[in-house]
Amino acid sequence: MPGFEFFGAEERKEVNEVLESGILMRYGFDAQRNGHWKAKELELALCEKLNAPYAQLTSSGTSALTTAMAALGLGAGDEIIMPTFTFVASFESVLSVGAIPVLVDIDDTLTLSPAAVEAAITPKTKAVMPVHMCGSMADLDALKTICDKHNLILLEDACQSFGGTYKGKALGTIGDAGTFSFDFVKTITCGEGGGIVTNSKDVYTKCDAYQDHGHDHLGIDRGADLHPYLGYNYRISELHAAVGLAQLRKLDTFLEIQRKTKKIFKDALSAIPEVSFRRLPDESGDTATFLGFFLPDEDTTRKAAANLKAAGIVNFYYYDNNWHYIRNWQHFKQSQSLSRFGSELQAAMKVYETKEFPVSDALISRCICTPINLGWSEPEIVERTEKMVAAVRAAI
Ligand SMILES: *Cc1c(COP(=O)(O)O)cnc(C)c1O
Repeated sequence: MPGFEFFGAEERKEVNEVLESGILMRYGFDAQRNGHWKAKELELALCEKLNAPYAQLTSSGTSALTTAMAALGLGAGDEIIMPTFTFVASFESVLSVGAIPVLVDIDDTLTLSPAAVEAAITPKTKAVMPVHMCGSMADLDALKTICDKHNLILLEDACQSFGGTYKGKALGTIGDAGTFSFDFVKTITCGEGGGIVTNSKDVYTKCDAYQDHGHDHLGIDRGADLHPYLGYNYRISELHAAVGLAQLRKLDTFLEIQRKTKKIFKDALSAIPEVSFRRLPDESGDTATFLGFFLPDEDTTRKAAANLKAAGIVNFYYYDNNWHYIRNWQHFKQSQSLSRFGSELQAAMKVYETKEFPVSDALISRCICTPINLGWSEPEIVERTEKMVAAVRAAI
């Protein structure tokens, strides 16, 4: 998963070009920047790599989600359906535009259950936001059918699955918009950064303005730009974009290594009859940043997670995790916001004080995800595989 493992001369070269000019901002200063436009160059490279007509960089995955929501017209009173298993940033961005997060169960893909989505639709529903968790994808055909049928926006949170595909199309490019994170621990990193892709020129134009205080970017003099809409500052810097440029060129290598290693782990664990694997709607498009598997019950899973940890195998037992699963999101459930919500949102959030998610609990409490690193040597992979199998067997 982490591109930072392969940070080297290529990243330093790109960053140095920015440092030499001293122009750290992505806009303006045309005469001083020695022809370097790293953010623009990375956006074009993203378009080409993902076969997307439009790409907009931002300062983070969270600001990419917020910008996409604003550009898609999501705001006060709009319900956005999202999963119980994600990173907190998904609901943070919903709340930041004043919309209402409607959390629903996941299924054995560890992403949105299409049946749960359909059951949650109300006249206020405006968008469905699947989260392509842990490197793999949601059941996009089923979700797109639901969105088309009910005239809903499909916004893909692909922050954890950059480079993944579904039926030959890049994740993020299938819905009305898709977002990526290039934070320090994601598939490729900018240090901090994010991106939005869309097939809609209108959505792109709005993203472009929103992430830069509303600038229309039509003139050559920033001070004379017009401001058709209100915006914020969610810009990426040239330094961060420079890192991303070098990282993007390494993406295919990262994916190849991850897929190879994951297959070795998965084949070995397949020999244990009590182990079942996360369902992948399109296995060939999996980025293989994680291997996710289920054990028969919570006790066995807890034991296996502890055994793995003791054996030095990093793994996530998300049921106990404070950041990725609703069970421990007390701040969300109790609306512990530093500033007051609008009255409609405040009322809608009440439901989370008591709402239970037994279907999601039954999956996440039996699930272990183990990350796939890039830097492991072949002997290390063999050793890890043996330790992993032994640790899981010992728990059964
Ligand atoms: C990392 C992540 C984000 C947010 O990205 P940042 O760049 O860290 O702000 C959003 N959604 C998911 C699912 C993520 O994993």
